[in-house]
Amino acid sequence: MRIAIIGAGIAGLSAGRALQAAGIDSVVFDKGRGPGGRMVSKRTEYGAIDLGAQYFTARDGEFRAAVDEWQSAGVVAPWPVNPLVLPERQPARPETRLVAVPRMSALARHLADGLDVQSGIQVSEITRELSGWVLSGRHGESLGEFDALLLTAPAPQTQSLLAEPCPRLAARAAASRMQPCWSVGLVLERPLEVDFDAGFPSSGPLGWVARSGSRPDRPHLPEIWTLHATAAWSEANIEWSPEAVGEYLSTAFAELIRQTPLVTARIAHRWRFARARGALAESVGYLEHEDVLCAGDWVTDGRVEGAWRSGRAAARRLVNRLMERSGQGGG
Ligand SMILES: Cc1cc2nc3c(=O)[nH]c(=O)nc-3n(C[C@H](O)[C@H](O)[C@H](O)COP(=O)(O)OP(=O)(O)OC[C@H]3O[C@@H](n4cnc5c(N)ncnc54)[C@H](O)[C@@H]3O)c2cc1C
Repeated sequence: MRIAIIGAGIAGLSAGRALQAAGIDSVVFDKGRGPGGRMVSKRTEYGAIDLGAQYFTARDGEFRAAVDEWQSAGVVAPWPVNPLVLPERQPARPETRLVAVPRMSALARHLADGLDVQSGIQVSEITRELSGWVLSGRHGESLGEFDALLLTAPAPQTQSLLAEPCPRLAARAAASRMQPCWSVGLVLERPLEVDFDAGFPSSGPLGWVARSGSRPDRPHLPEIWTLHATAAWSEANIEWSPEAVGEYLSTAFAELIRQTPLVTARIAHRWRFARARGALAESVGYLEHEDVLCAGDWVTDGRVEGAWRSGRAAARRLVNRLMERSGQGGG
């Protein structure tokens, strides 16, 4: 069976690996420059800055086992941080917060190793032919013909890709609401004198602030803080320029910490589809119609762990389908 996976975020990569473990090859297409999706780190002249997912948790047993493996392989480590709710200075919920090392994208690189991941390729059209599903790229070029598809792009992108060929799944994707997030890497001239490394501001435009260098294995970073705007602020100001957002959020940060840090650079990134707050909580972990499956954080719980679980569940379903077809039955 020829399988195409659209999206090399955590969901697409966990699916690709689970298929590979069952002896099934797949091709993973991603429009980004490298794998990782929202678990990405931006390379800058100041070092790699984690502008997307900041950390992840491992609540489910199967995911914890995967995390153990990644820890042994040296690509994941716990981040010993105690975020405060600010300015109240209440400790946030204590839990083990995990990060990839030495940057968030390292986990995706690890998972992509040995898979056929084709980066820089945007799937723009899906058509149903008698011989299978044909994928086309941005310039109308054929990306190949496949027997089954697994879409792991964020819900709005999956919805638009499936509107014509699979309206039933497109309608399910339309039901998952995704919120934007403006993210800023604030490079400072010297270390800030504050007694916390991460915090959840309780009011104002910021929803999260964190000192990048407090994560494990980031020894060479200058003083960089990642600032995330709240979903409400990001939504209201989604069309602002990155420069204007960088300035506004760094002023908000200065007010929060009651200091005026000396800023070397502000690197702003707009996530139009950052968090799946209206995730579908689909118990099987994937959506399916004929030979098309959807997976990703928006299908489950809107988190890294949920995305991983979703991709894996979809891959298992594909393996079972293959076994059913070849008459071996499936579990
Ligand atoms: C700012 C921010 C903060 C976050 N903080 C946390 C956190 O603290 N904890 C947590 O657990 N989660 C957090 N998340 C959410 C977490 O990043 C996601 O849940 C998870 O990474 C989703 O993985 P995914 O594989 O489902 O989707 P994605 O990572 O979005 O992967 C989908 C991939 O599909 C690709 N794609 C889309 N359309 C196409 C196309 N047409 N053709 C080819 N490729 C395509 C994209 O390039 C992308 O790489 C955060 C996210 C953001 C943005």
